[in-house]
Amino acid sequence: MTTPSPELERSLARAAQLRDELWFHNERYYNDDAPVISDGQYDALMQELRELETAHPECRLPNSPTQLIGGSPSDRFPQVQHPIPMLSLANAFSRDDLEAWHRRVTDLLDGQSFRMVAELKIDGLAVRLVYKDGEFVLGATRGNGQTGEDVTLNLRQVVSIPSRLQGDYPAVLEARGEVFLPLDSFHRMNEERERNGDPLYANPRNTGAGTIRQLDPQVVRDRNMDIWVYSLNDTGDAPLPAAHWEALAALKSWGFRINDQNRIFDTVEEVCAYYDEMLAHRHDWGYEADGLVIKVDRITQQNALGVAGREPRWAIAYKFPAERANTRLLDIVINVGRTGSLNPQAILEPVVVSGATVQHASLHNEEDIHRKDVRVGDLVEIERAGDVIPHVIGPVETPGEERGPVFRMPEYCPDCDTAVVKVVGDAMHRCPNSACPAQFFESLKHFVSRNAMDMDGLGEQWCRVLIDRELVSDVSDLYSLTQEQLTELDRMGDKLATRILTNIEASKQRPLARILFALGILHVGAEVAELLAGRYASIEDIAAASPEELTEIDGIGPRIAESIGSYFAAERNRQTIDGLRDAGVQLWQELAPVDETAQPWKGQTFVITGTLSSMTRREAEGKVKALGAATTSSVSRKTNWLVAGESAGSKLATAERLGVPVLDENRFAVMLAEPQSIFDAEGLPGT
Ligand code: NAD
Repeated sequence: MTTPSPELERSLARAAQLRDELWFHNERYYNDDAPVISDGQYDALMQELRELETAHPECRLPNSPTQLIGGSPSDRFPQVQHPIPMLSLANAFSRDDLEAWHRRVTDLLDGQSFRMVAELKIDGLAVRLVYKDGEFVLGATRGNGQTGEDVTLNLRQVVSIPSRLQGDYPAVLEARGEVFLPLDSFHRMNEERERNGDPLYANPRNTGAGTIRQLDPQVVRDRNMDIWVYSLNDTGDAPLPAAHWEALAALKSWGFRINDQNRIFDTVEEVCAYYDEMLAHRHDWGYEADGLVIKVDRITQQNALGVAGREPRWAIAYKFPAERANTRLLDIVINVGRTGSLNPQAILEPVVVSGATVQHASLHNEEDIHRKDVRVGDLVEIERAGDVIPHVIGPVETPGEERGPVFRMPEYCPDCDTAVVKVVGDAMHRCPNSACPAQFFESLKHFVSRNAMDMDGLGEQWCRVLIDRELVSDVSDLYSLTQEQLTELDRMGDKLATRILTNIEASKQRPLARILFALGILHVGAEVAELLAGRYASIEDIAAASPEELTEIDGIGPRIAESIGSYFAAERNRQTIDGLRDAGVQLWQELAPVDETAQPWKGQTFVITGTLSSMTRREAEGKVKALGAATTSSVSRKTNWLVAGESAGSKLATAERLGVPVLDENRFAVMLAEPQSIFDAEGLPGT
């Protein structure tokens, strides 16, 4: 055996290292839906490995990430075999790459000309959809390409996936498409998380993929997941259309959602012009696309070209450039959030990234900064993904340049000088002083916002003015504002002042859940506030409840209970509550008589799942709540009843496993008609 040359030895070692890194990132991306590097960084590692493998075929192992599909099916879902493998795509990063692909295909087709379909490469999750006699019967993820996950129940909640086909469809049909989270849903979810003081989701692709790969179909529906279908893969005994372009038209006629940006071209020049046009519009569509997919149109030509490893030769992904740039990190400043979190922000030397000037970027928390080893003064690489806030990827190596000190979170709040706390298990450092002016501005904005006390007219700028003019230093001060005080403010007319005061007055009667949410208690979002208001009649009762008592409510765990406890333990917060009460804000609600006749199901918790034929799930929840019970979205040991409609899935299985009594629709209807019969039902309601 000959000894490898030093160069080959280095290449073998580097290839092994790259394989390890890529496997690690595949696991984070495909299986956890939580990548720790950007797609551009991943693509660069993959490209390096490919180049090494081409230069030294000894480096190419059969299990290399260049040869296999990155994911693996999780055991949370039943597994499904794909009769036709779900493949990956070769990448082109430049016009040269695309031209090289075109030449290769022309050669392989012995000089025949071929048409190309250009489609947006949607950045979501690939799914396979199977229909029998026009009915949607199976939906699966790609997994490792051969075996995927059966996510039919979740995909049934994507309203744009037809449950029944229309027109002249074949008896058996398999289509594929990309499921994605629309950007407006993604932003709404993040706004809600910001209001609740929860960490933000990083990007729509992974949040969307995570949504399809979690176990609660209702979550899929609530998030308005959507799909673009991009291929027809099987038509059973019926013939497949002769060209991909025709297949797309047929899919559309059967009711599938087909992207109207799809085009068909004869030449590479046309494809490139189209690429430039799409690149210029990449932020205009309401969903993310990371390039174009170019496909040979005729199916006979596709078949002649075949597959190489994990990629078809007849298609290529022409990626959009990563929206990245290098710039200097001038400073790291700290903004204090509503829940007291100290949010580090990068101040950058202004730089243009895909048409927008970027001067700020988020840096998440101290741990994130240390992991990336970013220091003030560094040349850093930043990335702008969609219209999400840009983030710092990491320092760019600048050999010989002296670096600044390692970043440390301040020990005292930059706004009020209170000693900062860091609780184990919480990634954020926090200022514990709820009177901190920076926190107060955020709290005030939240208190007046539409989903909280809804004081229309009182926007962010006015909150700032009221604080600066010392008219408001606690949310309860809003209720003593006068017309005179408001009209004295610059640019505040009589009409606006009247509108604001009318809305402030009206807010005194908001339901208890809204007030609880408006207080901005850490981890108490709209849903938790509803749970609390479903159990307690007043803020005082909630303040007096022990953490143990609070955790008896399904949906409230120790972390939330502790947060509620510490909110009401703080002197300043008690003063706020007193102030609101004195101002006439209704901090209680008429709970229906406790005599159990009007609220016979008080104390019971229901989960409603599957499709009910006589009412929607929301209506069912309304009926259950009207009888005094609470509803939650997941089944636990504390759930008393599971109402299972048609196609109930994992919740039914969980209920059966935990011994939670299950009601079918008929039994549920009987119990609604005779609420007392719940106590005669077999198996006493759980406690
Ligand atoms: P791919 O780039 O090989 O492309 C294949 C996929 O494209 C299909 O499975 C389908 O889901 C999708 N697609 C979207 N629109 C399509 C259309 N119109 N027609 C056909 N297919 C369409 O996909 P892949 O192998 O899943 O992913 C590779 C990419 O994922 C990498 O280039 C990288 O950007 C990203 N990735 C990132 C990380 C990370 O850690 N950041 C890790 C793994 C993968």
